[in-house]
Amino acid sequence: MHFTEQFDVVVVGAGHAGCEAAVAAARMGLKTALFTLNAGLIAQMSCNPAVGGIAKGHLVREIDALGGVMGEVTDAVGIQFRLLNTSRGPAVWSPRAQCDKAQYRAKMRQVLQREPNLVIQQAEVADVIVESSADDRPRRAIGIKLRDGRAIGARAVIVTTGTFLNGLIHCGEQTHPAGRSGEPPSQLLGEALKLLGLRGTRLKTGTPPRLDGRTIDWSRFAQQPGDAEPTPFSFRTCTIAQPQVPCYIAFTTEQTHRIIRENVHRSPMYSGQIQSIGPRYCPSIEDKIVKFPDKLQHQLFLEPEGLDTHEIYVNGMSTSLPVDVQLAIIASVPGLENAAMLRPGYAIEYDAIDPTELERTLETKKIRGLYLAGQINGTSGYEEAGAQGIMAGINAALAIKGAPPLVLDRTEAYIAILIDDLISKGTNEPYRMFTSRAEFRLHLRIDNADRRLTPHGRRVGMIAEADWAAFQAKQERMGRMTALLETTKWSVASDQWPGAVGQTLAQLLKRPEITIDDLRPTLEKLYPEFFQAHVEAGDSPAIAAAATRNELKSVETEIKYAGYLAQQQKAIERLKKSEQRAIPEWFDYTSVSGLSREMKEKLAHVRPRTLGQASRIPGVTPAAVSLVNVYIEIQGRKKQSAISS
Ligand code: FAD
Repeated sequence: MHFTEQFDVVVVGAGHAGCEAAVAAARMGLKTALFTLNAGLIAQMSCNPAVGGIAKGHLVREIDALGGVMGEVTDAVGIQFRLLNTSRGPAVWSPRAQCDKAQYRAKMRQVLQREPNLVIQQAEVADVIVESSADDRPRRAIGIKLRDGRAIGARAVIVTTGTFLNGLIHCGEQTHPAGRSGEPPSQLLGEALKLLGLRGTRLKTGTPPRLDGRTIDWSRFAQQPGDAEPTPFSFRTCTIAQPQVPCYIAFTTEQTHRIIRENVHRSPMYSGQIQSIGPRYCPSIEDKIVKFPDKLQHQLFLEPEGLDTHEIYVNGMSTSLPVDVQLAIIASVPGLENAAMLRPGYAIEYDAIDPTELERTLETKKIRGLYLAGQINGTSGYEEAGAQGIMAGINAALAIKGAPPLVLDRTEAYIAILIDDLISKGTNEPYRMFTSRAEFRLHLRIDNADRRLTPHGRRVGMIAEADWAAFQAKQERMGRMTALLETTKWSVASDQWPGAVGQTLAQLLKRPEITIDDLRPTLEKLYPEFFQAHVEAGDSPAIAAAATRNELKSVETEIKYAGYLAQQQKAIERLKKSEQRAIPEWFDYTSVSGLSREMKEKLAHVRPRTLGQASRIPGVTPAAVSLVNVYIEIQGRKKQSAISS
């Protein structure tokens, strides 16, 4: 085969997964090419102009801690920052930022272009070139074929094509093939992946209409401002430079609901035109009306798509009803009576690959050197895509270098939970992250994502020298603050804190009524350098204040919840033991006597790599896992004696 160009890593698709994958491979020193259908739409936000939110914010922090870029790009273009869930425990606090959509694309492109090992090429990838294997070893991806006929060589190929594979847009009774609104679908590659023998599924997602902000009566809505002190996503952000803008809260009315009920038969989801399953947690407006008939109103958020555009995203009004019905629905909302629709909402059906086809590195089991990441694996969301992208990029690079893979553990990252859930359980609906998916969520907080993951990022070559030094200085600072709290005794008697005298500050912090803010004046005197560190590092006053507050909160959490964290740590160690028990690749489920046919089929289908993973396959019982455990020994001994005889 003649290749017109040769790269180490080829990434197909410049969405949120593709950008992270390409940056990771390039930063790890590999010659990388990023192919995309439209180089002007890199990191396009296909749906809402926002990053983060509950659990999704955790993913972005983790991407950042590993050395990825989604966090820093969001911080650069965010126009409204909010830390969500602060009325609840620190485990579930999560940042969210409204972004300027056009600036997000421009900033991401700039970040990619700064990578010396990375080139961006606009071209349609039509096929993955696979080397056939003479024996029963898995085949290997050796490059890609473009629609224009060129063949490009690669040692690893990462496919991140989002909703584009055989995409079909639905708007009422009308359908047309598309990857997303205004862009062509990827049909050749969709068919090519099927021919490679990867099991597929068909999923659906949807988006709301966009309105012209100049035609909205803003006086009718409650304002939702951002936080006065924005919480950035990236541990490396020094300033939030963008002007901040509010969002607005609107409500549907009885009239809205009547219009939807009268026209629901024209929605492709209810007429039978769409068969595939959409994201349960992001329902369309017609779904909400049908499923919750007693609810008198539904909340909508009017979110600006940027600073230089009048376009407004109507969060909560995702729909695939026909355009005339969408117009009537919009006009039924007080304040939107005269609103002009700039883009209608729509639903899109697309092909996804069954993620049980994947290893924990996101490499396909059937074709070595071929990795899949993002919405193609059945997920939904920019953050879920980015998280897979960075892991695919890192692992493709490690494999090329002949280094061991980076496989994160469920107990150390939401990214690991995402990948483990996908490859163990598969998904028959678009998968999104929730904090409830984590077994040990107090350990997986946004404030300690760097402590959990930056050492991994550093080890694989993703963290620059200066960032590593800043990380180490922060750990040292927080360690000193903790030691101070544990050794300094309170000496002022007061009615407010009875019995406090003689207790350490850490003991006081364990009392529910005392917070770190109460102790702050004392700490400022005891350890002033702690409070100056971010100012001295050159952070803006707002970021310095937020970063210092977050570090203090992190120290507080570790002390306040020390008992609970220690209990969880024991459980983590137990889980790790079963996690570490590997199931050999040659393991034969058919010869495990006592295992039901159903269990055998389930286990053979997924081929889990560890007992821990086996236990999370839906329907696989603890008894079945114990049997597999016993048979690992039995089959191992048989194999050994066959070799020696
Ligand atoms: P994408 O961002 O889709 O990027 C795919 C990339 O692949 C593009 O750059 C494209 O040009 C490129 N590409 C495709 N085929 C080829 C080819 N053959 N050759 C070269 N390049 C190719 N997420 C939510 O969290 N909530 C929502 O409510 C939501 N609603 C959505 C509604 C719609 C209509 C759409 C389209 C998406 C929605 N999403 C939603 C999903 C979100 O947009 C995706 O999860 C996210 O963008 C996936 O990122 P990705 O990198 O996997 O793919």
